Amino acid sequence: MAKINEYDVVIIGAGQCGVLTAYYLNKYNISYIVLEKDRCFSSWYKRWDNFYMNTANWMNRLPDIDLSSIDGDIENKRANKDQIIIQFEQWLKSFPVNINICNVSNIKLEEHKFIVESERNVFHATIVIFAIGLNQIVIPKFQNKISNTLEQIHSSEFKNSNQIKTSNVLIVGTGSSGVQICKELAQTQKYSVYLSCSKNSNFPWTVFGISIYSYVRKLKLFDIKSQSVLGKCVKFLSARKGDPATPPSPKELQSEYNVMLKNRLIDIKGNDAFFEKNQTLYLNDTTIIWCTGYQLNLQPLIDKTLHNKLLNRYGYPLVNFGFRSIIPNIYYIGLRFQRLVSSHIIYGAVRDAKKLASEITFKINGKR
Ligand SMILES: Cc1cc2nc3c(=O)[nH]c(=O)nc-3n(C[C@H](O)[C@H](O)[C@H](O)COP(=O)(O)OP(=O)(O)OC[C@H]3O[C@@H](n4cnc5c(N)ncnc54)[C@H](O)[C@@H]3O)c2cc1C
Repeated sequence: MAKINEYDVVIIGAGQCGVLTAYYLNKYNISYIVLEKDRCFSSWYKRWDNFYMNTANWMNRLPDIDLSSIDGDIENKRANKDQIIIQFEQWLKSFPVNINICNVSNIKLEEHKFIVESERNVFHATIVIFAIGLNQIVIPKFQNKISNTLEQIHSSEFKNSNQIKTSNVLIVGTGSSGVQICKELAQTQKYSVYLSCSKNSNFPWTVFGISIYSYVRKLKLFDIKSQSVLGKCVKFLSARKGDPATPPSPKELQSEYNVMLKNRLIDIKGNDAFFEKNQTLYLNDTTIIWCTGYQLNLQPLIDKTLHNKLLNRYGYPLVNFGFRSIIPNIYYIGLRFQRLVSSHIIYGAVRDAKKLASEITFKINGKR
């Protein structure tokens, strides 16, 4: 029989959001456990080999740790994959985290207690926090109509150029992943690289010789509350155009690396790709790399009785206010535009986790 473990708080997921929340709950002496199916910060380990951060080092700082040796130029520089992992690992060594490695497969509510089940264990908790990140890849539905002579991978599976065995590559999406992967492949000069541009804009690194991030910092743009008028404007723009991506822009990729630009991809039938404004391309000996993002999918984790109460008709969690779900004692952290416009990145997660831990402590102990 599975062993039952009792905690005030169960946190699901040990990415930055889950571990940061644990870090602050430690400080408040709250009994908690983090349940993680892989390893702490697993998403960062899974990024491609030459991945580098989109945010400058000062935005990636974790609480109470001197990382001057790793940070380097904190104002302008961006860490690569190894550097960001070293930062997380060093920080993790500096405090205890109560963690259990298991895949949460079901959560149900019985008499005001949450029953959180994994293959081996059962955990009982008064409060559940979802910190599972965006756990599902997004690929357009027309993927099913694509000829099986073509190779396809999602950006989450991309590691390096050795994976690509075809002579042509079609990269779909010009968010930060799309442009980074495109540059890496085009630089090798081994393939003809096509890039299908999405709606998002690109921002430059510097304006009047000053890092764009210096302006962000001075104007406190990442501290804007999602519910403020400005926050709502940013959210509206982001819903319409997607997040602005870091350089290189598609135009730079075209002029510097001979990348062939295409409009937004709208369909593929067999080997024929159709783009906006009547552009077409016959795909032959091609790998399609879907840089089309991720979404949250809570359905595999929650009991059917909770589905309708917790999720809207698109399967997205109904949030009452800030971190709170529509069901008392279920919380989320790390969702886009949750409390801050930066809630989904490290900068926002550090601030949100502190706030969430304090809110939960108040709920449990009646004091912050
Ligand atoms: C390509 C890319 C580049 C990015 N670049 C930046 C950047 O430059 N700067 C920045 O600040 N942010 C960046 N982000 C955004 C963000 O910081 C990361 O996505 C970050 O990993 C999100 O942290 P998280 O804790 O919310 O989720 P995750 O890091 O995804 O952690 C969730 C954890 O939950 C676990 N989990 C999921 N389901 C279960 C289950 N059923 N049971 C147990 N455990 C489970 C997973 O294994 C995972 O470890 C980037 C994101 C992507 C995709």
